[in-house]
Amino acid sequence: MKELNVLTINRIRTKTDGEGVTTLVVSMGCPLRCAYCINPMTWDGSYKATRKYTIDELYEELKIDNLYFLATGGGVMFGGGEPLLNIDFISEFINKYKDTGWKFNMETSLSVPLETLQKSYGLIDHYFVDTKDMNKERYELYTKGDYDLFYSNLQNLLENVGPSHIRCRVPMIPNLHKNEEYKENIETLQNMGITDIEVFNYVIPSDRKTISDTAKKNMDDFLNKIS
Ligand code: SF4
Repeated sequence: MKELNVLTINRIRTKTDGEGVTTLVVSMGCPLRCAYCINPMTWDGSYKATRKYTIDELYEELKIDNLYFLATGGGVMFGGGEPLLNIDFISEFINKYKDTGWKFNMETSLSVPLETLQKSYGLIDHYFVDTKDMNKERYELYTKGDYDLFYSNLQNLLENVGPSHIRCRVPMIPNLHKNEEYKENIETLQNMGITDIEVFNYVIPSDRKTISDTAKKNMDDFLNKIS
């Protein structure tokens, strides 16, 4: 039986995940290692304060807000970590409960193999793409990820689901974006055909008690290289 390892479930969200009232499901696992990660405890399986849900258990937890979802056109936001790492669970969940009338959205970095991303096509109503940066050097410095993979996945997503189902989030990250680099990022996205772009100030989490040694080392490496 499939299970989803969940860090937290955040209810009654408005104005952050698109239309309506939503519930955010934060699942464990992430392929990136962002210097200022807000959830480094999702990086590996060693963090113990999580809960595993079966598909029906997750539904029981989420249906508390059924009336809010239906009245406002909201639903569920799958986030993380990187929810696409759990696409087999998520696709089974959505296929089982697609008649609820809920929206099923996803916040993703797209840093997964293309075939993993493709499993989500036809299931997700709206993708919220966490772009980090649209410059290869800055992206890889900040995330330790593979920019080319991210970029080609974004192109593939755009071709397959269309711009009306994608919002790209463009963060302004302290130290990484010292000037107005975010404007370059917007231009690159617009040139790709992305029409819904949200720019925001990335605030470094103040409570870093749970940050692991690895996360601290990543942040120190980043600060050394950027200075
Ligand atoms: S994408 Fe970056 S910020 Fe988000 S959980 Fe992964 S490492 Fe952290």
